[in-house]
Amino acid sequence: MFLINFRFMVVMKFGGTSVADAVCIRRVADIVKAQVERRLVLVLSAMGDTTDHLLEAGALAYHEGRVSMGAIERAHLETMRALGLGAAEGEIVPLLEELRGLLSGISRIRELSRRTKDYLLSFGERLSVRIMAACLVSLGMRARAFDAWDLGFVSDSNYTSAEIMGESWRLIPERVLPLVEEGTLPVLTGFIAKDAGGVITTLGRGGSDLSATMAAAACGAEEIQIWKDVDGILTADPRIVKNAKPVETVTYEEAAELAYFGAQVLHPRAMQPCMKTGTPVLVKNSYNPAAPGTRIVPSPEKGALPVRAITSRKNISLVDIVSTRMLGQYGFLAEVFSSFARHRISVDMVATSEVSVSLTLDTVNDLSVLKEELSRIASVELRKGKAIVTIVGNVKRSSEILARAFRTCEFLGVRVQMVSQGASKVNISFIVEDTEAEEVVRALHIDFFDRLELPESEGGGGTE
Ligand code: ASP
Ligand code: MG
Repeated sequence: MFLINFRFMVVMKFGGTSVADAVCIRRVADIVKAQVERRLVLVLSAMGDTTDHLLEAGALAYHEGRVSMGAIERAHLETMRALGLGAAEGEIVPLLEELRGLLSGISRIRELSRRTKDYLLSFGERLSVRIMAACLVSLGMRARAFDAWDLGFVSDSNYTSAEIMGESWRLIPERVLPLVEEGTLPVLTGFIAKDAGGVITTLGRGGSDLSATMAAAACGAEEIQIWKDVDGILTADPRIVKNAKPVETVTYEEAAELAYFGAQVLHPRAMQPCMKTGTPVLVKNSYNPAAPGTRIVPSPEKGALPVRAITSRKNISLVDIVSTRMLGQYGFLAEVFSSFARHRISVDMVATSEVSVSLTLDTVNDLSVLKEELSRIASVELRKGKAIVTIVGNVKRSSEILARAFRTCEFLGVRVQMVSQGASKVNISFIVEDTEAEEVVRALHIDFFDRLELPESEGGGGTE
């Protein structure tokens, strides 16, 4: 009865490493074919490191006046040939010509504004979707490549880091759903959009995740799958913790927090559209499709461990600002933060008392002017070489988490220099020395994850 209007639809997003070459693209085609009955929309990144290569080509044209795009051209044409898609080159060659024209323009007028950069970077995704669509068609699927702007992605004009505009919530389903209903499999560029004036924009590095979650949320998809080159969101950075393992489920907030704190799994803003609609997200590994992956859901699962993952960020500066005015002086914090805002320095962690504030920043910032400005009202002390260790998990259990974390630090002889429990309710962060961070992360990982692997009922038996 009412089922007629019920739309099954799944959005699948494949990142650069998942579509890096002909072998990868074939692997993706198999993954797509296995689920094609579910009515799919694909969102793709540029192939491999194409975005970086485009940036390099742009810099070369701009600084040295040279046009060099041989590697980009070769990678795309060779991939097509290896896939037996020579006949579809007609779609790719004009784009490569347009790119050559742009690079030679940049080399002649020596202009590479943020706006031009976005136009330049757009070629990566525009090329990859056309190759993928041709490959799917060659395997008998009714795929068709689309540029994001043809399917309703409108952004503001904040080039290199544009925001998708509200009207896209209406425009995307208006364009996408009729295609899906007539049996077309749209293969859509991630990362890019056009502003109201029709100028190409990008959503910031890694932005295809956001394109995909936006498409899924706006179309009311039943699920979005984000295909990466790891088995899901991991409990820690595998370069630091060798036995880091995929987390079964996390909440949107936890995933967003992990993205922000440097677990390079998702774009920091990617969870926002899904949070509005409750669309479930599945993070999967295109190199290992059989692995269950990580499910991102609205609220924590019952019986979940207190901690989801542990991350760290190095090269942090700790700034102590102590008011030199009278105790209880109001407006002190306001003055401090407006100084930071004026100098466009972004602050991560903050701890305050009435007359002092400690905060953390990335060490890349130059603080000399700010320090001079603040010296009217405060003494400012800067300490470099710090790291933020972040425990993402269920903050309702913060007492337990903090107790265990502090016990671990004490055991290691590591002094915790500042603590903050994020307003996000899912993160507990603290500052240690840069040189201590990895050891702390490893020890915390043992405490929160590895111990629990001991078979409880068998009293640790098991000789296998
Ligand atoms: N290709 C873009 C980048 O490398 C966008 C993405 O991959 O999500 O940042
Ligand atoms: Mg990429």
